[in-house]
Amino acid sequence: MNYFCHMSRKKKFHLFENIEVIDTAAKGKSVAKAPDGRVIFLSNAVPGDIVDIQTGRKRKSYFEGKAIKFHKLSDKRTQPVCDYFGVCGGCKWQNMKYEEQLTYKQKEVTNNLIRIGHLDLPEITPIAGCDKTYFYRNKMEFSFSDSRWLTDEEIKSGKEYENKDACGFHIPRMWDKILDIDKCHLQEDPSNDIRNSIKSFAIKNDISFFNPRNQYGLLRTLMIRISSNGEIMVVVQFFEDHKEKRELLMNFIADKFPQITSLQYVINNKGNDTIYDQEVILFKGKNHIIEEMEGLKFKINAKSFYQTNSSQAYELYKITRDFAQLKGNEIVYDLYTGTGTIAQFVAKNAKKVIGVESVPEAIADAKINAKNNQIKNTEFFVGDMAKVFTQEFINQNGIPDVIITDPPRDGMHKKVVEQILNILPKKIVYVSCNSATQARDLALMKDYYTITKTQAVDMFPQTFHVENVVLLEKC
Ligand code: SAH
Repeated sequence: MNYFCHMSRKKKFHLFENIEVIDTAAKGKSVAKAPDGRVIFLSNAVPGDIVDIQTGRKRKSYFEGKAIKFHKLSDKRTQPVCDYFGVCGGCKWQNMKYEEQLTYKQKEVTNNLIRIGHLDLPEITPIAGCDKTYFYRNKMEFSFSDSRWLTDEEIKSGKEYENKDACGFHIPRMWDKILDIDKCHLQEDPSNDIRNSIKSFAIKNDISFFNPRNQYGLLRTLMIRISSNGEIMVVVQFFEDHKEKRELLMNFIADKFPQITSLQYVINNKGNDTIYDQEVILFKGKNHIIEEMEGLKFKINAKSFYQTNSSQAYELYKITRDFAQLKGNEIVYDLYTGTGTIAQFVAKNAKKVIGVESVPEAIADAKINAKNNQIKNTEFFVGDMAKVFTQEFINQNGIPDVIITDPPRDGMHKKVVEQILNILPKKIVYVSCNSATQARDLALMKDYYTITKTQAVDMFPQTFHVENVVLLEKC
């Protein structure tokens, strides 16, 4: 293979020709190597492609670049199903066959555990793939904007767009630009129909879309949740308060979609659009929907956290429970418990489960759900883990035999790891949505624990995200 390297004197951008893309990297990128051996991270290629690469400014020890010509397309490729592929920030791996996505997810987890954590790994159980590779999300959030993002084709077409109202997703790194979506492949029907109907009714009836730059307009965001048993929650967020127009729209939604079981709205005229500190007003139906798992019922309201892929959440929880190998007499801690779903899922196999979580509303939900599920051996506590999970807390609630921990992407605070090492429970089940921080945390524990099981789970097909569950047993 011939390599050429052109360097423009001014900008120091490089062009590398005929380079094979060899791997994937973090955040959905792929990897190639420059002739001098330096790594190039690419934003638009798939392993197996042979491409010409234009690099951006050189970083310290690597390049970032883009494939500008494809000499050979990889046989790992597949045709993306979505019209917005490449423009929309989500589903970056849609151009890769699902079995290849799984291989690379598995590989990323293993590499992180070995390279970052320098950990000894047992035989690795194959990643649990998802049967449904599209339409797997139970929750979607769309944004309204009067400054629609025009794609390159739309700009090239020269067409004038009088109305720039859009409802869809933020363009990556463009907080005020919204990509208008006609069909998203992530949530089952009637999700697309609801969004599109609201959009066209609002345009027809002069119900204005939010202007994020100057902060005016009525329609701000739309959340749709569809539970496994078919219940539907719709929450419309308005910026300005306009009773007449709001009621016109809400009545339209109620009439057009009688299958919506929970129709709610929020009037939020503060700077950001999070609804967590806002009053959610019930317009029609109930203020919640129900998700069910192995006979356990979870009440989900507009602000509740619930795993967004219900069927894979079930797989993840089963793996977690299997790894914990509970016999019924253990005290279990479920750290970062959210709405207490894992705690309740394992409760019948334990003597007592203690859940800890920083969001007060989530803990309120956890308590209500446990009560409704007639679970009497769970207790839930609110607070920042590093502050709550202390020796005093353990003296009060009992020494855990097993700790299940499911931290956010940043992983566990060092103090939390230290506290776990003070206790040295027999087993730790570490559920993670970021194997890099998981590897870092596990490295701190490796003198005391052996990793006896590790299993990745795919909750988000078409994306580069991957969950990983590890069982640690005391040496
Ligand atoms: N195990 C739960 C949720 C895991 S997501 C489930 O399966 O549904 C991680 C959780 O950690 C979130 O609910 C988040 O609110 C919580 N969290 C984040 N930082 C925290 C901290 N510093 N202390 C306690 N909880 C925290």
